[in-house]
Amino acid sequence: MENKTTEEKILELKDIVRNIPDFPIPGIQFKDVTPLFKTKESLKTLTEVLVEKYKKEGITKVVGIESRGFIMGPIMALKLDAGFIPIRKPGKLPAETMEEEYEKEYGIDKIQIHKDALSENDVVLLHDDLLATGGTMRAAYNLVKKMGVKKIYINFIIELEALKGRELFPEDVDIESLIRYQI
Ligand code: AMP
Repeated sequence: MENKTTEEKILELKDIVRNIPDFPIPGIQFKDVTPLFKTKESLKTLTEVLVEKYKKEGITKVVGIESRGFIMGPIMALKLDAGFIPIRKPGKLPAETMEEEYEKEYGIDKIQIHKDALSENDVVLLHDDLLATGGTMRAAYNLVKKMGVKKIYINFIIELEALKGRELFPEDVDIESLIRYQI
């Protein structure tokens, strides 16, 4: 994918994402990102286009959401000369944590971050593989915001635009997705 524009690279990556109908339950069009990681060419291109926008933003920490945010998160951190921080489901992080609750389709869910993971000087890039309804990322955004960092950017590989997850966030939040589908 050398000598191609960013737009051409993104279109090629879009072709590599695999759609699995009715997974994990009927009616869901599951976007499988694993083929993007499978070859060295697509992994390299994905990494390049994901970090391009943030190279000059002074990112100090990439914060990835369990579990698919743990794949590109650390790779992006390395490329951006930043550290990596995991946000996890309850009971997984061993030291003192802060947590945030959010509503899922069936009941309430929680996510946690280590209390000492971030400080007021951090410029954070929050990353997950996919934006659907936005509930998960909004909870992660609230959690990082509570920690009083300098600035928060939000990034996804994929956005499902028809679900309008973006609308859960204040207008001034910088939200970027590489590959967009209606659903
Ligand atoms: P949401 O909180 O609705 O934005 O859901 C986001 C999380 O659910 C992400 O971590 C995704 O990995 C996963 N997810 C939701 N919908 C899909 C989908 N259609 N294909 C793949 N993953 C999905």
